Amino acid sequence: MAANGHRRQVLLFLVAIILPCVVLVVLGLRMVAQERELQDNRSAEERRSLTNQLRRELSARLDRMALQEATALIADPARSDRREYQSPMVVLVTSVSDGRMVLPWERDSRPARFRRSLDRGEFARLVGQGERAEIGAAAPAEAIGFYSDALAVAGDPRQDAYAQLLRGRASLAAGRRDEALRDYGAVRGSSLDIVDEHGVPLALYAATRLLDAGVEQDAITGLVHNALNDTRWLSPTALYLLRDLASGLLSAADATEEESVRDLVASISERLAVTEQAIALERDFPRLGLAIGRTELHNADARWIAYGTPAWLVGTTAPLGEQDEIVVALWADSLFTVLRDAARESDGARVDLAVASSAAADGEQLGAAFPNLVVRFASQDETGRPSWDLRRSFYLVVLLLVLSVTLFGAYFVSRDVRRELRLAELRSRFVSAVSHELKTPLTAIRMFAETLQLGRSSDPQMQAEYLETIVNESERLTRLLNNVLDFSKIERGKKEYRRTPSDLADIVSASARAMQYPLEQQQFTLNIALQDGLPPANVDRDAIEQAILNLLANAMKYSGDGRVIDLALRRTDGEAVIAVADRGVGIDPEQQSKIFDQFYRVPTKDNEGIPGTGLGLTLVRHIAEGHGGHVTVKSTPGEGSTFAIHLPLEGAAL
Ligand code: ADP
Repeated sequence: MAANGHRRQVLLFLVAIILPCVVLVVLGLRMVAQERELQDNRSAEERRSLTNQLRRELSARLDRMALQEATALIADPARSDRREYQSPMVVLVTSVSDGRMVLPWERDSRPARFRRSLDRGEFARLVGQGERAEIGAAAPAEAIGFYSDALAVAGDPRQDAYAQLLRGRASLAAGRRDEALRDYGAVRGSSLDIVDEHGVPLALYAATRLLDAGVEQDAITGLVHNALNDTRWLSPTALYLLRDLASGLLSAADATEEESVRDLVASISERLAVTEQAIALERDFPRLGLAIGRTELHNADARWIAYGTPAWLVGTTAPLGEQDEIVVALWADSLFTVLRDAARESDGARVDLAVASSAAADGEQLGAAFPNLVVRFASQDETGRPSWDLRRSFYLVVLLLVLSVTLFGAYFVSRDVRRELRLAELRSRFVSAVSHELKTPLTAIRMFAETLQLGRSSDPQMQAEYLETIVNESERLTRLLNNVLDFSKIERGKKEYRRTPSDLADIVSASARAMQYPLEQQQFTLNIALQDGLPPANVDRDAIEQAILNLLANAMKYSGDGRVIDLALRRTDGEAVIAVADRGVGIDPEQQSKIFDQFYRVPTKDNEGIPGTGLGLTLVRHIAEGHGGHVTVKSTPGEGSTFAIHLPLEGAAL
């Protein structure tokens, strides 16, 4: 029966709690997975739309800038060798001629004019003679004469400067340093517009000589600055010469000038880098597939290509249709920064553009028009939205919470179920115990009554004894029935105590008298000790007597071989204490708290043979508590037990 109940309980627990928990966990995990999938889809969709938006934005800006630059160039072709553009992001604007990108300094017309100017008649002849004397015959002194003559016939500033430059060189070779420096000084002061066929201002050549001679350093510094600030594109040769000059100035500079000269060297190097990148672009241009008549078709859709390091965005435009295409290059990073900031400002998105070839570039392709650009997205954390990890933890915490609440509830349910099952079991044992207890006295009563009725015994003493037994057994029956009835009243909450001031010593003595016959029958010695002078207590006389009888009956039942019972009434600390002590089997300490529970009987072998319902002590406790008191038990297994009913003595002096 117990095993069966236990199994049913386990099954109930499994079905009612574990299964829903498992379902809950599975559903929870499924939800988390779905949420994640949804999140991934959503962010992929978001990325796609951001990419599209970025592509449109970039296209629009680039097309607008390219058109602006091309229009400005077409409106004023003289700008073609200038570094002045409409947007500060633009680094180079130039035209395409026969599929070839023209470098801006090649548009400079001055080198051609220089050549033409030198070729003119008398001047050219005298210069030729001078050079022959100076270089061919190694006669610089003679050459000086020719160059002076050439200077005399010179008809324009170019010829002037050129003749002076040559004469300075010859003078230096002839050891006439002062004259040489005078000539070089004059050329150094000439216009930067006077450039030779390599696009190098003659003034720079003169400055080089002067620097070698260790003179005019301030003037040379000024000259380098001026040359650098020119809005024209300088030819690479001119830039190399400028850099050499600046390096020379740096080694000659004192501590106060050093920093500014260093800056000068740095800005020349920057200009050189741009120039060199432009030369490389010119070389690679046909391969980029941006020119009309694209030579390589794999970039057929390409309109803007990132080129070089630092990257330029290079594209072509042909604003008037029949015109040659115009190449526009701009600083990729500046444009990327503008777009990134705009995206962040408009919808808080953290996106960035990058060149695909760069090492850290992992991202999504921007589009066919931008073959080597990618979009990169900042992780969710940085966008300020709660990260996935955070939300997952939240879900898990909620799930755990629900689970623990459920299990907590399950624990209480299972505890209650267990208690109910135990009670049901105890109840059924109680029913059989009661039936048994009813049967025994009834059988005795009937047997003695029949004997008397049939007149089988004529001995008056025997007859009296039979009658005594019948009365005694009836009393036992009454006690039993009283217990059961009282218990049922207690259970229904109907038990009431009719309290009147009573003498406790009286009640104790009456109880002892009621048990006198069965005690004698079983050869028990009952020691009664009643303390004098107890005040009357306000009690339900019958109930207290019933409690004492229950304790005395237990003392007899569980005495084993012990045959002495002590019944005492005394007064302690404002209480009356009625104690029943036996020298019987005793009670295990861990059982002592349970024996007052309804239907509970200590499950020992000895007890199995002793009739009982498990209600006696329950009633004793109820009666004691119903009078504002309590019951205690002191017991040592094998030595005996003492049960004591403590009742408050109202108004009694302590
Ligand atoms: P019952 O005696 O009908 O079984 P009770 O409620 O009176 O029921 O007692 C509960 C249990 O307490 C008993 O079954 C018994 O095991 C134990 N018990 C009660 N009184 C004594 C006692 N004086 N000595 C030893 N055990 C006792």
